[in-house]
Amino acid sequence: MSVVIVGCGIVGASAAYFLAKEGVKVEILDAIEPAAQATGSADGAVSVASKRPGPVMNAALAGISLYRELSQQGLLAGAFKSRSTFVLASSQIECDVLDAHAAALRGVGLRVDTLSRADLRGRFAPLSSDLSLGLEVFDEGHAIGYQVVHRLLTASAAKVRRNCRVESFLRDEKGTVVGVTTNQGPIRSDAVVVASGNGSADLLGIPDVLIPRKGQLLVTERAPALNAAMPGAIMSGRYLMSKGMQVGAAKADDRGYGTVVDPLATGQFLIGGTRESSAEKHTNDVEAVAEVLRRAVAMVPGLASVRLLRAFAGIRTAVVDSKPLIGRVPGTDNVYVATGFEGDGICLGPVTGQAISQLILDRHVDLDLTPFSPARFTQVGVPA
Ligand SMILES: Cc1cc2nc3c(=O)[nH]c(=O)nc-3n(C[C@H](O)[C@H](O)[C@H](O)COP(=O)(O)OP(=O)(O)OC[C@H]3O[C@@H](n4cnc5c(N)ncnc54)[C@H](O)[C@@H]3O)c2cc1C
Repeated sequence: MSVVIVGCGIVGASAAYFLAKEGVKVEILDAIEPAAQATGSADGAVSVASKRPGPVMNAALAGISLYRELSQQGLLAGAFKSRSTFVLASSQIECDVLDAHAAALRGVGLRVDTLSRADLRGRFAPLSSDLSLGLEVFDEGHAIGYQVVHRLLTASAAKVRRNCRVESFLRDEKGTVVGVTTNQGPIRSDAVVVASGNGSADLLGIPDVLIPRKGQLLVTERAPALNAAMPGAIMSGRYLMSKGMQVGAAKADDRGYGTVVDPLATGQFLIGGTRESSAEKHTNDVEAVAEVLRRAVAMVPGLASVRLLRAFAGIRTAVVDSKPLIGRVPGTDNVYVATGFEGDGICLGPVTGQAISQLILDRHVDLDLTPFSPARFTQVGVPA
């Protein structure tokens, strides 16, 4: 059997890995190169701390387990870092959001501790004394998207074609999809997987189903002492609000500022970020960079003396109902889609790749794909 995967982000690379492991001949086509889009410009929280109970959280829990398994097997050893996530509040609005969120997480059996101001000072010397409440969400992790892609591609030995833009689907005289047409000519295969992030909108004719959401991130120089004093990633209550978790009339601001400070294994810090209704450019603007830094320093004052090394931006692909599209494309037997992971695709990439592989090979699919069915949108299909 042969499968063409359109898109070499973490989702396409994961599908390639699991298919190749089963002996399938896989070719991945990317309009640019591996991890060129969202996967290469993301933070890497492998996390449920910012998710609400429901199908995406269930998938994320399966995603975290799979990261641990692949790490123990050696494939992702050293590329997946286990850690807790701390969600922190400095205002009454954020405290209310945290209280509601803690109750929701505990309601589905997750291990969450509530930390008072004094607990926070004891655990995190570098934190601002303005922070009055925290939640520790256990058993979380972090992975850098492009490193995961590199490991998956190396292990699968799948053929990757760079600068290969898929333009449409190739059909036989009966109308069955038999591959794709590209700027490098037609490529035939038994099945096609569309894992093209924002590029999936054109291929499947669904510009009104997928929404681009820009995010801006910063990376600092190494600051080993400060880094070592942080027992996990920290996230502001505002970050939950930028993901739609409001209590009462409180609203996220227009640019969706929500602070995340992630102490990286290198001793550096990854700092985020924004969640903007924009696909405009993959670039940063001074206003956002300054505001993201200001908010991070307000939580961890010691960051003020750490130099910023770079700023970057990426575009997330969201679905209008906030759940990804994973499954067979309606009206076809051999075209599959896996896109729309918004800010969760690093966490969900491997588990989605495994599910797509099981689906194509007609095996039992471990992940419940019912809530993610592409058929919930009548528009999803292969354009004639
Ligand atoms: C700022 C930011 C922060 C994030 N933080 C996190 C986080 O902490 N945790 C988390 O889990 N997720 C996070 N994400 C989300 C995560 O990065 C994405 O959900 C994930 O990378 C999506 O992977 P993908 O493979 O679906 O898409 P992409 O990585 O976008 O890959 C799609 C690929 O398809 C290619 N392509 C597109 N169209 C075509 C075509 N016509 N022909 C051929 N190739 C094509 C592109 O070149 C691209 O390489 C973040 C994202 C951003 C932007």
